[in-house]
Amino acid sequence: MIREETTVSLSTSRAPISIDELRSGVRGRVVTPDDADYDAVRGIMYAGVDSRPAAIVRVTDAADVSAVVSIARETGAELAVRSGGHSAAGHSSCEGGIVIDVRDLDSLDIDVDGRTAWAGSGLTAGAYTAEAAKHGLATGFGDTGSVGLGGLTLGGGVGYLVRKYGLTIDNLLAAEIVTADGEVRIVDAGNEPELFWAIRGGGGNFGVATRFRYRLHELDGVVGGILVLPATAETVAGFIAAAESAPEELSTIANVMNCPPMPFVPEEHHGSLVILGMLAYAGDAKAGQRALAPFRALAEPLADLLRPIPYPEMFPPDDPDYHPTAVSRTMFIDHVDAPVAQTIAEFLAASDASMRVAQLRVLGGACARVPTEATAYAHRASRIMVNVAAFYDGEEDKPRREAWVAEFSAALHQGDAAAYVNFVGDEGEARVRAAYPGRTWDRLAGIKRRYDPDNLFHRNQNIPPAAAGAVTT
Ligand SMILES: Cc1cc2nc3c(=O)[nH]c(=O)nc-3n(C[C@H](O)[C@H](O)[C@H](O)COP(=O)(O)OP(=O)(O)OC[C@H]3O[C@@H](n4cnc5c(N)ncnc54)[C@H](O)[C@@H]3O)c2cc1C
Repeated sequence: MIREETTVSLSTSRAPISIDELRSGVRGRVVTPDDADYDAVRGIMYAGVDSRPAAIVRVTDAADVSAVVSIARETGAELAVRSGGHSAAGHSSCEGGIVIDVRDLDSLDIDVDGRTAWAGSGLTAGAYTAEAAKHGLATGFGDTGSVGLGGLTLGGGVGYLVRKYGLTIDNLLAAEIVTADGEVRIVDAGNEPELFWAIRGGGGNFGVATRFRYRLHELDGVVGGILVLPATAETVAGFIAAAESAPEELSTIANVMNCPPMPFVPEEHHGSLVILGMLAYAGDAKAGQRALAPFRALAEPLADLLRPIPYPEMFPPDDPDYHPTAVSRTMFIDHVDAPVAQTIAEFLAASDASMRVAQLRVLGGACARVPTEATAYAHRASRIMVNVAAFYDGEEDKPRREAWVAEFSAALHQGDAAAYVNFVGDEGEARVRAAYPGRTWDRLAGIKRRYDPDNLFHRNQNIPPAAAGAVTT
């Protein structure tokens, strides 16, 4: 087919570029508004973000990425990077510019004996986990299979193995990354260690990751799954106390929320306040049952699906039509005693949002043993991660849901202003800084200056390059 020369007005600060030029520079497909599947390809998880890029490049390898990075750098085109498309801030797309879409970077090369794997950054956590489980192996990611390795890994990665094996980045051995100068670099502890430090928590600020090398652990399934309990101040405080005193083989997520219409919960409890607990014990099955007993003893469960399961079953089934509009706030707290649990129950009961939740993740264990300054994720001493969220229904509904989230999170505040970058939405510069407390911000800004002095990669939770002459290390 002969295509006419297409010069699209990309949002550029310098020269316009032609789509044909872009097409001739890469092996991967370049999707534009003229393509029938443009809307499907540009779609991201959260509704409410509806950016229309001029071109989405489905890159096939690091050379493609390098070519697009160079074109964007030379033309000044706005550039976004997309893996699983789960950014709450809508950063994985952009208006009028180019999206580097890494979803076709989905190779997975598992070294079973060496217990490591090279994985394309476009793989989802679910796809990787299912493949690794065939060998009785696992790397910890988050709580949802559809999340992309790209965003999840670069921000940290807190999931069902966090207490046993740490964050995803604690199991990251190396990465292949294309920096703003177009160079393809392999970084690890010995090779460009500062860049390797920065990408373990610093997000997409330093380049486009094309592959990651992870450590794998032997994991022949877990004892776990879903436990639904009625939520009261006593059960919520009891759940957190049990999670804190559990052996670190057990990682938990307590979603305190209005009960969704789940078929395995009796209908009369749908809508009532529950703890939708996700628990995973990574170890001996009998010891796992013992570790789970204190949770079951908190109240008569409304549903008890805890049992020995293959690890990939921890991920809820993917729903490609799930595109919520939500507002949220992420934070860290030290304790959930009875008054805190009472506050949680009261705020959730007072809201009529179609979905409202306080998600509590007890940290500690292997995650906490990594020194704070060892990676750009600097929250090693934080004990409990909290996410407060509510769905909103149309723009007119949004302000009151935002107000509820703000009041709720303020009521829970216990003196720690820090935030986990992967759960920060479009919340402004102060919140990005909050993700990098202490010296972390300055060190990241210095590395940014070295590898991306013109802030080409700014469509993210942005860390601007340090000013010339700034002391950063
Ligand atoms: C339903 C849901 C559940 C979640 N659960 C967890 C959880 O349990 N634990 C947890 O830690 N997080 C969790 N998250 C947060 C998640 O880790 C972040 O939203 C993450 O950024 C998503 O990664 P992604 O690749 O899917 O998203 P994308 O939107 O594709 O990417 C997000 C950003 O990451 C950067 N990025 C992505 N890929 C690359 C790449 N290859 N190179 C350079 N930069 C890149 C870009 O800046 C991009 O804008 C969850 C999010 C959702 C929506």
